[in-house]
Amino acid sequence: MVINKLKFTKYKCFNCNQENNFNRTIYEKKFLKNIFRINLCKKCNCEFTNKIPANSFTWSEIYKYGGSDQKKDIKYKFDFLVNFFHKLRIFQVKKIEKIVFLNIKKKKLNILDYGVGDGYLINYFSKNQNRLFASDISLQKPSNLKKNIKYLNYKMLEKKKIKFDIILLRHVLEHCPNPKRYIKNLSKKISKDGTIYVEIPNHSIKSNIFLKIFRNNYAQLCLPHHINHFNKENFTKAFNKDFKLTFHSMNIPILGTSIQNMLKFKKELRFSFLNIILFPLQILISIFTRSDVALGIILKKR
Ligand SMILES: [Zn+2]
Repeated sequence: MVINKLKFTKYKCFNCNQENNFNRTIYEKKFLKNIFRINLCKKCNCEFTNKIPANSFTWSEIYKYGGSDQKKDIKYKFDFLVNFFHKLRIFQVKKIEKIVFLNIKKKKLNILDYGVGDGYLINYFSKNQNRLFASDISLQKPSNLKKNIKYLNYKMLEKKKIKFDIILLRHVLEHCPNPKRYIKNLSKKISKDGTIYVEIPNHSIKSNIFLKIFRNNYAQLCLPHHINHFNKENFTKAFNKDFKLTFHSMNIPILGTSIQNMLKFKKELRFSFLNIILFPLQILISIFTRSDVALGIILKKR
């Protein structure tokens, strides 16, 4: 049984590195026979998952599962819904473009998408004369990346002498052990006046009504995949010393999945009809309650 081979280790607060020094547990979830908890750091109040995979085998195994205890179904039955979902993503990408390119006058930019995933974000930027790079944990270039995008696996990226004008980390940092070290290393690869764009789920009951309502069923707890649970306050604590931060309100569909979790649907339906049809309603609720489901943050070196 694969589950018995999984090994986990204690995780420390992403801000102050205090191990197991927590005030209280605020959320918990059972996943593959393990209980995962989100703890509140005693020293600095930042929120982190209590344990993370102890080896690369466990890391790769947990990503074969979605939010439920079932392995992800790679083929979706409803292709038209998937296509529609990808069209919705274009609106998000255009908003990111607006935020990131604000005040940048240079025409030919070196852009790196760190944690490229299926590549839809960097593929969009392959217009104009930009030089495009993508990076992720896989050693091979993902098949859906456009031809003019140079793929650098993490080993190649370390050695590469090039400076980037823009580095994009969209929904990456909540998955990374020691995010401060990640950003510090990446910032060495940023050109003078360069920009790092980080997008993260907003984990705050003060500024996210959906988290307040759904609590343990909230779609973006993503235990154990999310290990750092950021919000404006704790992100500022962690990064304000080295970077000037500008926060923007962003949206990702969470309402459908949260309702599914609440109703204890067994099968994870990532592109479910519910998630897509409820997205406009979610955006309306966000506007009226001043909720931020996700945060887009511009980091500029101080
Ligand atoms: Zn702490």
